[in-house]
Amino acid sequence: MKIDSKTKIYGILGHPLEHTASPAIHNAAFRELGLNAIYLVFDVKPTVFQDAVKGLKALDVGGFNVTIPYKERILQMMAQLDLSAQKAGAVNTVKVEKGSFVGYNTDLTGFINPILELDLKPCEYTFLILGAGGAAKACVRALIDAGCEEIIVLNRSKERAIALAEQHRYPNLKVGHLNGQTLKEALSKAKIVVNATPVGMYPNDDESIIPKALLRRDLIVYDLVYRPVQTKLIREAKEVGATTICGYKMLLEQAAESFRIWTGLKPPKEAMLEALERELGVKREG
Ligand code: NAP
Repeated sequence: MKIDSKTKIYGILGHPLEHTASPAIHNAAFRELGLNAIYLVFDVKPTVFQDAVKGLKALDVGGFNVTIPYKERILQMMAQLDLSAQKAGAVNTVKVEKGSFVGYNTDLTGFINPILELDLKPCEYTFLILGAGGAAKACVRALIDAGCEEIIVLNRSKERAIALAEQHRYPNLKVGHLNGQTLKEALSKAKIVVNATPVGMYPNDDESIIPKALLRRDLIVYDLVYRPVQTKLIREAKEVGATTICGYKMLLEQAAESFRIWTGLKPPKEAMLEALERELGVKREG
């Protein structure tokens, strides 16, 4: 890769960022299309967050992704917010246009695309979302946009679930406290269940948010956790014959959408997927 004065800089801003897979995905895309661009990691501590963002503007970077814990904090630093960021109430992609920041949110597209790829119409199904944090908010927003039949959100702390409901005010959105009984009841109504909590994430990969006994063959199980790729929840869902969607599919789709926003080009998804699979150690089936 040639680096010179014309090399356009992109990156990811967050903290901590030891395990980010985004550089692998985006640098593969730049290589594939022969672009003079590089994607770096900006691991920035909260105390210097504002200075770092101003520095990125001064360096005239092309754009950057924003991740935990800054997706909401960065809102106030945007000159303009795309509709996607307004709807999500959070920014995960910044494009620098004529020296000004424009904020987008590609998590909504990232979440919904793997569902649409299964030829499912969200408007026909009841979804159960476990968790009420940043990722769950993006899922709920995307499902509302898709006209989802019914959305149930269960969360460990009831207050956060209620706050999510107040933010969205969708008549077909029900929220509650996550416990054994509510989980059982909600699962009996749901066709698609989404784990939007970190339960099962490395190094706690022997945990699952849903006991295997509650999983069914006719369920679609979508786990947003992507390290490990085959979480305990995904493994047990496969064992009972359920359809599964792994979290790295969302990661790929949100990255592809960021790439399109920054470059205006069609993202080379196959090259991006290969790089992501290599990074995560995914073995293709079949
Ligand atoms: P977050 O804002 O910190 O929210 C975490 C949520 O999980 C909260 O609702 C929290 O409940 C709940 N939770 C945490 N530990 C729990 C436990 N032991 N049992 C039950 N509930 C628990 O995090 P986030 O940004 O939403 O991310 C959630 C997960 O999604 C992470 O694993 C993240 O890596 C993944 N994610 C994946 C993608 C992707 O592209 N695949 C994108 C975004 C996020 P309380 O409110 O009670 O604390």
